[in-house]
Amino acid sequence: MSELDLIREYFSHVGVARRDVALGVGDDCALLRVPRGFELAVSIDTLTAGVHFLANADPDSIGHKALAVGLSDLAAMGAEPAWATLALTLPTADRRWVGAFCRGFARLAESHGVQLVGGDTTRGPLSVTVQVHGLVPGGTAVRRLGARPGDRIWVTGTLGDAGLTLRHLEAGEPVSPYLRERLDRPLPRVAAGLSLRGLASAMIDVSDGLAADLGHILEASGVGAEIALPALPLSPEVAGYVDSTADWTLPLASGDDYELCFTVPPDRCGGVEALAEPSDCRPTVIGVITEKPGLRCIQADGGDWRPSRAGYDHFAEGG
Ligand code: ADP
Ligand code: MG
Repeated sequence: MSELDLIREYFSHVGVARRDVALGVGDDCALLRVPRGFELAVSIDTLTAGVHFLANADPDSIGHKALAVGLSDLAAMGAEPAWATLALTLPTADRRWVGAFCRGFARLAESHGVQLVGGDTTRGPLSVTVQVHGLVPGGTAVRRLGARPGDRIWVTGTLGDAGLTLRHLEAGEPVSPYLRERLDRPLPRVAAGLSLRGLASAMIDVSDGLAADLGHILEASGVGAEIALPALPLSPEVAGYVDSTADWTLPLASGDDYELCFTVPPDRCGGVEALAEPSDCRPTVIGVITEKPGLRCIQADGGDWRPSRAGYDHFAEGG
């Protein structure tokens, strides 16, 4: 048996054993049963060493994050996670690395009822691709295009933590366990996403920064938005950074938050307030959808805030 065969063995029983899997790892294809009346939600992401994680990053965290980013996409559609496939490219068949990767992946898969049903294992520069499959009752998925003027804009959890962690790491500064966890082991907001079916008019997960991702909702829906900067939900660490620098780029434009940003018509906002989300991911209202296109970020003194750096396509022109 080759080392790569052994590695395939590692992946033959990862996650939960689901009854809707007619055939999992081991044949040429997996066979999966989509229940009648449901749609299959599919998303794929690649993480590459040196780009999406540091080459020497802890493999358990890489396994967690590779699945978490996909589950976050499912959450943003209101889809329930079901199956995953994994394409793994490894420079060497390092069994310790693979074992730890597998543990990180499997723990998150189990906590979301996901079964790993297939994949591919090859040799080359380290790269991890995960495809996730979720189920959503036909016609109920929450898309990016449904936001209307007057809808309130909400976001789960806190913004900018992963961005602040990266800044600390790049500067060689110490990082608190809370911040490290927020970068390495984001918790996809799956339960919140499911509860928001029928409440949210549009939804996206915040992977590239709030301004860019809310910008995608605005574009798809043909609307604009005003957000109140003092309303942004921030951890004490990010709040301290913003207070001392007056720089809002961390919560607005740093990536890897994996929170949900969604819009809700005013008469349905009570339903969002009533959601029993744990305190670390409770949703907060941050603004309102407008007819006027573009994104306005309003400061405590009522003035517009504009980023000093270029590259924020989604901010309003001339506001
Ligand atoms: P084939 O050559 O027919 O594609 P492989 O040798 O690539 O078969 O894979 C054999 C079986 O192992 C398949 O069922 C495949 O889905 C599974 N598999 C291979 N690599 C992985 C992996 N990294 N994770 C999960 N399943 C895998
Ligand atoms: Mg193959």
